[in-house]
Amino acid sequence: MRHKVYILVILTYPLMKAIIVKPPNPGVEITEINENEANNYGKVKIRTLYNGICGTDREIVNGKLTLSNLPKGKNFLILGHEAIGVVEEPCCGFSQGDLVMPVNRRGCGVCRNCLIGRPDFCETGQFVEAGIHGIDGFMREEWYDDPRYLVRIPKTLEDIGILAQPLADIEKSIEEILNIQKRVPVWSCDDGTLNCRKALIIGTGPIGILFTLVLRTTGLEVWMANRREPTEIEQTFIEETNTNYFNSSNGYDKLKESVGKFDLIIDATGADAGIIKQVIPLLGRNGVLGLFGFPISGSFSMDFNAIQDAIHANKVIVGLVNGQKPHFQQALVHLASWKTLYPKSSRLLITRTVSINDEKEVLKVLKEKEHGEIKIKIVWE
Ligand SMILES: [Zn+2]
Ligand SMILES: [Zn+2]
Repeated sequence: MRHKVYILVILTYPLMKAIIVKPPNPGVEITEINENEANNYGKVKIRTLYNGICGTDREIVNGKLTLSNLPKGKNFLILGHEAIGVVEEPCCGFSQGDLVMPVNRRGCGVCRNCLIGRPDFCETGQFVEAGIHGIDGFMREEWYDDPRYLVRIPKTLEDIGILAQPLADIEKSIEEILNIQKRVPVWSCDDGTLNCRKALIIGTGPIGILFTLVLRTTGLEVWMANRREPTEIEQTFIEETNTNYFNSSNGYDKLKESVGKFDLIIDATGADAGIIKQVIPLLGRNGVLGLFGFPISGSFSMDFNAIQDAIHANKVIVGLVNGQKPHFQQALVHLASWKTLYPKSSRLLITRTVSINDEKEVLKVLKEKEHGEIKIKIVWE
């Protein structure tokens, strides 16, 4: 007599906690997912320690970021493009316990800029961004990554290192502007520095503050502008970094009268596009207007006089986006230097931390920006 033997195998994958979204629909959820349901990118096993939250996360959560989409074949996206994790097992040049930060934008795999690690200049537009579009982000207990996309974070920067991600975009922007200005035979001052060059930063949010810190460290004179008086926190930055402040609630005429024109203007507002028309008359000869904040409404136009002036005076308008690995590394150098150069400001950069176990609070900070916020950090414990 023959017996048939059936063996039933049930495969179970470990669960992990993750913060997920379903773009283009609004909403966010803290949930348990199967580990095999998450995108991974390499062999280095990393346990998440911190996530940063920024405006992009909130736009996704509130269903407003049209370019956000799901990973192929999945019905959710793990949120989070700002993260610091700890390497769990020695691998690929990393030791157990090393702190690392992932580079969030990853190349299209086709164009030459992506193939040399510079998808910030992707030529096909087919790049992906972890936690934003096409691939899962890092608001989860752990992930596996490729060393190519990992930046080492020194232990001495564990406290403010999370800012290296947003700061990388600014480092790339400044690098690009300095490269653009190489077109001018001499842009440095008579003492060889850039100390005589004047920059105007429109907007005093986290991006405006980081631009100011980098430009002050580079040596330029800086004016920050907003349509109100500075807050107490902004006042600390202004005093410590020796920056000027302009209340633009009545327009920019007074600033032009008192200071003259600027060599560099950065729009860091992400508000109405009409701001660009207002500040163009403040741009000096051989000047650069950098567009960084994403406008969400409005328009601007240039009449023939303004176009003639732009031609006669060699003016440049440039879009500024996305830092890559060299810029993350430069960001760390600046974060480390500010602990000494601007210690009070440096301590104000992290507004507060929220534990991942305090789910109600995590969901709240993912939905709306807090008054006076620079960077809020989620702590995985
Ligand atoms: Zn961000
Ligand atoms: Zn590309």
